[in-house]
Amino acid sequence: DDMNHQGMGPNSNLMLSHYFPQYLAYIVFGLKINIWSCITFYDIIFSFQSGEGEILETLHNIGSKNKIWRSYIGMGYYNCSVPQAIVRNLLENAGWVTQYTPYQPEVSQGRLESLLNYQTMVCDMTGMEVANASLLDEGTAAAEAMQLCHRHNKRRKFYVDVRCHPQTRAVVQTRANYTGVVIELKLPHEMDFSGKDISGVLFQYPDTEGKVEDFTDLVDRAHQNGTLVCCATDLLALCLLKPPGEFGVDVALGSSQRFGVPLYYGGPHAAFFAVKENLVRLMPGRMVGVTRDANGKEVYRLALQTREQHIRRDKATSNICTAQALLANMAAMYGVYHGSNGLKHIARRVHNATLILAEGLKRAGHTLQHDLFFDTLKIQCGCEVKEVFDRASQRKINLRIYSDGKIGVSLDETVSERDLDDLLWIFGCESSAELVAESMGEETRGILSTAFKRTSKFLTHQVFNSYHSETNIVRYMKRLENKDISLVHSMIPLGSCTMKLNSSSELTPITWKEFANIHPFVPLDQAQGYQQLFKELERDLCEITGYDKISFQPNSGAQGEYAGLAAIKAYLNAKGEHHRSVCLIPKSAHGTNPASAQMAGMKIQPVEVDKNGSIDIAHLKAMVEKHKDNLAAIMITYPSTNGVFEEEISDVCDLIHKHGGQVYLDGANMNAQVGLCRPGDYGSDVSHLNLHKTFCIPHGGGGPGMGPIGVKSHLAPYLPTHPVVALQLDADASPLGTISAAPWGSSAILPISWAYIKMMGGKGLKHASEIAILNANYMAKRLEKHYKVLFRGARGYVAHEFILDTRPFKKTANVEAVDVAKRLQDYGFHAPTMSWPVAGTLMIEPTESEDKAELDRFCDAMINIRQEIAEIEEGRMDSTINPLKMSPHTLTCITSPNWDRPYSREVAAFPLPFVKPESKFWPTIARIDDIYGDQHLVCTCPPMEVYESPFSEQKRATS
Ligand SMILES: *Cc1c(COP(=O)(O)O)cnc(C)c1O
Repeated sequence: DDMNHQGMGPNSNLMLSHYFPQYLAYIVFGLKINIWSCITFYDIIFSFQSGEGEILETLHNIGSKNKIWRSYIGMGYYNCSVPQAIVRNLLENAGWVTQYTPYQPEVSQGRLESLLNYQTMVCDMTGMEVANASLLDEGTAAAEAMQLCHRHNKRRKFYVDVRCHPQTRAVVQTRANYTGVVIELKLPHEMDFSGKDISGVLFQYPDTEGKVEDFTDLVDRAHQNGTLVCCATDLLALCLLKPPGEFGVDVALGSSQRFGVPLYYGGPHAAFFAVKENLVRLMPGRMVGVTRDANGKEVYRLALQTREQHIRRDKATSNICTAQALLANMAAMYGVYHGSNGLKHIARRVHNATLILAEGLKRAGHTLQHDLFFDTLKIQCGCEVKEVFDRASQRKINLRIYSDGKIGVSLDETVSERDLDDLLWIFGCESSAELVAESMGEETRGILSTAFKRTSKFLTHQVFNSYHSETNIVRYMKRLENKDISLVHSMIPLGSCTMKLNSSSELTPITWKEFANIHPFVPLDQAQGYQQLFKELERDLCEITGYDKISFQPNSGAQGEYAGLAAIKAYLNAKGEHHRSVCLIPKSAHGTNPASAQMAGMKIQPVEVDKNGSIDIAHLKAMVEKHKDNLAAIMITYPSTNGVFEEEISDVCDLIHKHGGQVYLDGANMNAQVGLCRPGDYGSDVSHLNLHKTFCIPHGGGGPGMGPIGVKSHLAPYLPTHPVVALQLDADASPLGTISAAPWGSSAILPISWAYIKMMGGKGLKHASEIAILNANYMAKRLEKHYKVLFRGARGYVAHEFILDTRPFKKTANVEAVDVAKRLQDYGFHAPTMSWPVAGTLMIEPTESEDKAELDRFCDAMINIRQEIAEIEEGRMDSTINPLKMSPHTLTCITSPNWDRPYSREVAAFPLPFVKPESKFWPTIARIDDIYGDQHLVCTCPPMEVYESPFSEQKRATS
């Protein structure tokens, strides 16, 4: 016990590590041996060797190889001033970054409110009716729009305006290739809808050349022929421009990066997606809605979950699971902080700077391609282009070069007078910005003097008009933070989601300018630090997984699945085996598996699971035999989704290979394998790795994530490419297409995984897996006397997670998994994974990050809850009014003057001694009413009456 201390500096991932051998022996073999006999002096010295300081210094040296030039490249990525109040109190705050996706609304009201602010902001800015709580990036959002149209009217052709960003076109094109949609690239006047065979049309406003154009006619023509209209757009431009919702579009999408999120060498950033009301049930991604709780109070929760993969599987509206919640929250806070006037001011400043630059350029003899623009100019040079670029590099400035040789400049909110002077100088203009501006006069008002000027109001809701001072915004963020359970409170034992420590040292570099302030499309020689980091991380991940090559492009696990399956398809096609399209997926698979296979154009065939939770081998064999001529792949999870190391895994891989198929191994469970076994060794061909699970990227309350894929060498030639940045591909490359908008996905969070691996080292990583498995077995052992542990391996052990069967209590006590989940909140815990992979059960994954005391507290809570169930079973407690059914208990409930329940207030709120008044986490609302919310869908901020004043809660708490 004396070793059972908290936090061990660099080895804080390994809080149990120092008594691991004794602990293991005790649990597994029932032996008790002296702890010190297992820990040598060498171990102790060694464990303090790879210091956090040293790792950060190395990482800083790598980062300093990135050259931070001023980039005016645009293309969906802009510099911005990230408010320091948001950096410190949200981005760098574990209370905002370590939460899980808000599936338990009673302990998630803070980020749910913030995400609702995001949705409201997006609706207001775009003029649309409903928005979701973020997608991965602008390119994938556009691909989702294309798929939404296809799902809506089943037509096969989709028009894309050639003046969309090149990466948007590439991502849409790739997605279309695999889903069987035909993309036609055209200019609006070439688009003919009269055949009534066009599913949808996508254009960009303002377009990639900066032009602001009137699309009213195009929208009308499309609608007359049953075609849906999708508009990629820019939130800052919409502060001044008529929003797309006002000229009839059906879907508006884009990136909210420039609302206070750094460039990050491509990500993570939140994409937004908004639709007309009639399309809401087809909308991809998560959506926050308003509903009521058991007391009738208006509250927030995720709406319309039944559209998602967990339920709809291959018929889901998309495979999006992890999105970009944290970045959406940053953007929302930026909106809350600035409000409508602040944003208008920023937008006007950007536009005015662009007008000044445009005027200066014209005077210097250059020609502008377009007269109407917001922040982007396309320039036909009056001199040698090379001259301009030479001068730009003297000033360390990046410009865009179009494929036709013209130059692009995109300005942003950081542009100062000096920046404008430099730009004018680069283009050979002899005047300063000040002189140009002085001579321009009042009449130059750009788009504000045209019909494009926005006349409608936005962000009128009180939340966007209350927190414009730092004092207030900081208190607002803290108030929301305090409503959410995160890893700063207690363990989040989510099976399959691996909520482990996200250490401070790993997270520190996220705000270093060397990693944050770099545009994804700069020349590679300016990003040598990132390139080195990618190479090192690739090498490490290959060693860990047994694969030969890694692609960092997929920016979530589900995107990795789609990318990996697309690589398989591309490989089979190249072999002339186009007909191979059947994908076998066990029924226990994560819902994203079938949803992704669907996106990759495969035909899904389910495989049964046997009573031990493993793949039913007899059924698998029959299915392989039946589909052998068309077999493309199997998607499996190992250890199985049921938390068991299946002993037949190699045989399964062999069987598939023998029949011409490929093995996709879902890598979500790497936390049970790192250092112990490698997918590449036991027969898998490709996996995604959830870096936001096993490799320490925080969950962010629903993103960011990274889902790079590892492949065996035969699949390497098919890995993704990028239309803007030439990736270094091998000579035999035949890429599957483009998966994400940015070449290396969400680059800026890769240092987290890099630092984790480097700090742990081979020995530490293996040790972590062992402790993760040990912790799960310890908990399963403690709990097995009280609950049935559903599946175990042949030797009686579970892997790194296990399932508790709560189904019997339905009959014996009218108690369901959800009641146990909500009751855990009264003990200060977030629920385990509920009803997956087996309905009516709970799946627990402790990870290696929790010490024994925390594991015991959680077990104590579960055991106590079992006793509460027993009281109901034995008739000593009412079967409808009891601590489980009435949970969670809020402070309001506990302090209400009338208490007429058959159990005490103490039992309700302080059920065990470790739940103490001074450290109690209070759920802020009572049990959620999901059905009501889905029947009365409201997905923007409700009117003010339901808001409390910032002080009312405090008053109640102290009165
Ligand atoms: C988390 C998870 C995924 C999906 O990953 P996202 O990043 O959320 O898209 C897929 N499969 C399994 C087994 C998972 O646990």
